[in-house]
Amino acid sequence: MHDPAPPTPLLSSTRLPNAHGYRGRFAPSPTGPLHMGSLLAALGSWLLARQAGGEWLVRIEDLDPPREVPGASDLQLATLAAFGLEPDQPPVRQSDRHALYRDALDRLLAAGHAFPCSCTRSDLTTQGGIHRQCVATVPRPHPAFRLRVHDAGLTSFEDGLQGEVRQDVASEVGDFVLLRADGYWAYQLAVVVDDAAQGITDVVRGADLLDSTPRQILLQRALDLPTPRYLHLPLVLDADGRKLSKSSAALPVDPADPLPALRLCWALLGQDQAPLRGANSPDALLRCALAHFDGSRLPARLHFHEAATTTGSTDPE
Ligand code: GLU
Repeated sequence: MHDPAPPTPLLSSTRLPNAHGYRGRFAPSPTGPLHMGSLLAALGSWLLARQAGGEWLVRIEDLDPPREVPGASDLQLATLAAFGLEPDQPPVRQSDRHALYRDALDRLLAAGHAFPCSCTRSDLTTQGGIHRQCVATVPRPHPAFRLRVHDAGLTSFEDGLQGEVRQDVASEVGDFVLLRADGYWAYQLAVVVDDAAQGITDVVRGADLLDSTPRQILLQRALDLPTPRYLHLPLVLDADGRKLSKSSAALPVDPADPLPALRLCWALLGQDQAPLRGANSPDALLRCALAHFDGSRLPARLHFHEAATTTGSTDPE
C-alpha cells in the first residue's frame, strides 16, 4: 500500500474571478454544425457576459465520440469566429481533461458519494428505469459509476429567467451515472468539474438543460464546489410547439453569411431590432447589440415561426 497522491485541486488558477466577478461560457458538443438554437445560447451568453463587463469562454464538450461528427468542433469554432464571438481564452476541449474527471470521481468514491454499478437498462425496468439500488446479480468487468442520491426532498435553484426550479432528484432521476459502462465520462460530471475549474460564475444555456441543473447542484455539493448562477434561455420551438430539431430552423447557420442569423437571434432574444439596422459587419452589429441589449426583454418562452427563416422576422410569444 502506498499513500494516495494528494488530490489535484479542481479549482485551478483560472478560477480566480475577474475584476467584475463574472465569467460566462458557451459549451457546444461537436455533434454537428451550429444551428439557430446553439447560436442563440452563444449570443445570449456572450451578451450577458460582456454587458456585465465579464469574460466569456468557449469549451468543446467532446466526451462522447460515438455522437461526434468529424470536423464539427473546428467548424463550430470557425463559425463563432465568423460571427465575431471571440472567447477571452483559447477554447478548451474536454477530451484533454480526463485527469480532472478521474480525480473528481476518486474524491466522490473516497467520500462514499459514488459507487460502481453493474445494472443494465433492462435490470432497471422494474424500477421504472430509475436507479435506487443495485439489482444486477452479475458484476460487470467494467461497471458504470453512479452518484448516490439520497432521498433529501427537493433540490431547487432560482433561474435568472425561468424563476424557481425544483426537482426531487431521488424520485425523478435516481442515482445518476458519472462514468458510463462503455468508459465515457457522463456530461453531468464533466460539466460540473469544468465549470468549477474554469471559474465560471454564470451558466447561460438552453432550457433543454434545465432539468439537468439540480443534478449538477447535487454534484457541486458532493464535491464541495461553488454553484454558479444559472439562466436558461428558451428553446427555439416552431409555431406548433415542436422542438427545433424537427423544424427548418434546425438548419445550420451559415458562417459565410452571419448577419441574417445574428439579427434573427437578436430578435429571438426579444430585443429591439431598430438600432441594429445600419450594422453591416458582425463586429459592428455586436458592438451595437451590446450597447442596446436589455436583459429584462429576454423571453422565458418563444415560438419560432417558419416564415422567419425567409423574412428575418420573428414572433416571440
Ligand atoms: N454541451 C452541451 C450541449 O451542447 C451544453 C452543456 C452546457 O451548456 O452545460 O448541449
